[in-house]
Amino acid sequence: MITIAERLKIAYDRIAKAIKNSHILGQKVALLAVSKTKPSTLIREAYQAGQRQFGESYVQEAVGKIAELSDLSDIEWHFIGPIQSNKSAQVAAHFDWVQSVDRIKIARRLNDQRPAERAKLNVLIQVNIDDEQSKSGCSLSEVDALAQYIATSDNLVLRGVMAIPKKSDSLNEQQHSFAKLQTCFNQLKSQYDSIDTLSMGMSNDVEAAISQGSTMVRIGTDIFGPRN
Ligand SMILES: *Cc1c(COP(=O)(O)O)cnc(C)c1O
Repeated sequence: MITIAERLKIAYDRIAKAIKNSHILGQKVALLAVSKTKPSTLIREAYQAGQRQFGESYVQEAVGKIAELSDLSDIEWHFIGPIQSNKSAQVAAHFDWVQSVDRIKIARRLNDQRPAERAKLNVLIQVNIDDEQSKSGCSLSEVDALAQYIATSDNLVLRGVMAIPKKSDSLNEQQHSFAKLQTCFNQLKSQYDSIDTLSMGMSNDVEAAISQGSTMVRIGTDIFGPRN
């Protein structure tokens, strides 16, 4: 059976190849290992293979695993799922990054609820890049106001943007979606010094995302196997 370490190596090789093909000078792409629904034993295995950044989507489940892995002091937890108001305090208390902030109300709660003894919370704005009814994320026209709110919040650091594009198997269509997010990212970057993260690309569209300047891909299935 193929190990987590081997799957991670395959994912990093795939990223390296996509970077090479993108011809973007000095492009660096981080890998977020998306461990939602997977047990802490598998996360520990990935950590032991050198992986440090992990993504979770369900607050309750994540908080339990974060506690089980609290001995891993340099592990970095990213929250990537929809945030309900009544769960924001737990997100603010336990995560290093939140990639799914899509409204001012949630940004305000995370800022107010971030524990004083913790470093500032790193925040990405989630954008509903293809205007899909069913998806979370703010519209492109709402990004400016939300960015300004986050950038002026004492306990938050605005790091960039994240999106989950419309499902497509066409490289062209995937690139078209990602290009829209890249434009948004570049505009923010020209306004705020803290912006450095363009989070886009999942197991089925890593190449398209990296070709459009992604700095962080989020991979679950290819590392931990399919979810039920
Ligand atoms: C589940 C999830 C991923 C990982 O998706 P895979 O297709 O398993 O690689 C990435 N990003 C977000 C926001 C997710 O919810």
